[in-house]
Amino acid sequence: MEQFAVKTNGLTRLYGTNTAVEHLNLKVQKGQIFGFLGHNGAGKTTTIRMLTTLLSPTDGSAEIFGADIVKENLQVRKKIGYVPENVHLYKDLTVWENMMFFAALSGVQEPDRRILEILERIGHPEWIDFKVGTLSKGMRQRIGIAQALLHKPSLLFLDEPASGLDPEGTRDIGDLIVQLNREEGITIFMNTHQLGEVAKLCTSIGILNHGHMVIADSLENILKKFPDHASLEDIYLQIEKDRKVIV
Ligand code: ATP
Repeated sequence: MEQFAVKTNGLTRLYGTNTAVEHLNLKVQKGQIFGFLGHNGAGKTTTIRMLTTLLSPTDGSAEIFGADIVKENLQVRKKIGYVPENVHLYKDLTVWENMMFFAALSGVQEPDRRILEILERIGHPEWIDFKVGTLSKGMRQRIGIAQALLHKPSLLFLDEPASGLDPEGTRDIGDLIVQLNREEGITIFMNTHQLGEVAKLCTSIGILNHGHMVIADSLENILKKFPDHASLEDIYLQIEKDRKVIV
C-alpha cells in the first residue's frame, strides 16, 4: 500500500517565462494534516491546482496515493476532494438540492443516504432544507467540505479553509478538520496564512518561497531547526526575510 498521499518529483509550472513552482520535491505521508504555507504568490495555489489535476505541470511529476496526476488523472480525482477558498454552491438552491446536484456529477451511489450521512458527519443535519443564500460564510464552508466528501475521498485539499471566518467559525472548521482526519482517516492538505491554526492543527508543515520548498517537517522538528525562534510565526517571518533554503 502506498505510504505517501502526495509525492512530487521536480514538479514545475511556468506561466510564460514566469516560474510559479520550481522543481518541487514534496512528500506528505498518509494520515497527516499538512499545512502548506507561503507568501502571496509563492506558488501554493498553482501547486494545489496541479495536484488536483486542474492544471498540467510544465515539468516533473506527482503522484497521489501512487497514481500519476497526468497519466492517471481519473484515478486521482476519485481519491481527492477539493474545497476552494470560495466554495461553489448554488445560492438559490437548498443544501439538499446542491448536494444532490454534486452527488449526481460525481456518480455517488445512494445519494440520499450519503447526503444524510455526510450532513451528520459535519454535525448539521438540520441545515438540509436551508437555502444556501441564507447561510453564513462559516456554514457555507462546512457545506463546501460536505460536498467535497460526497464521493468518500481519502485526501482533502483545502484552500484557505478559515479565510474570512470569525474566531468561532475558525475554531469550528479546525475541529471539523481534526475530526475528519482522526475519525475518518482522511489526509488533509491545506493551504493557509493562519499560522496559529497551522501550529495547532497540522502534523506536518511545508513552507514555500517563490516557488521553492524551503522547509517541510513536523512543527517540533522545524522548531528544533530554529532554536533561536520561539514560534512558527517567528520562523516563517525569518524565512521570508532570508529566503534561505534549508532542505
Ligand atoms: P496567494 O497566497 O496570493 O493565493 P499563491 O502562493 O497561491 O498566492 P499562486 O497563485 O500559485 O501563488 O501564484 C504563483 C505565481 O504564479 C505568482 O507570481 C502569480 O502571479 C503567477 N500566476 C498564478 N496564476 C497565473 C496565471 N493564470 N497566469 C499567469 N501567472 C500566474
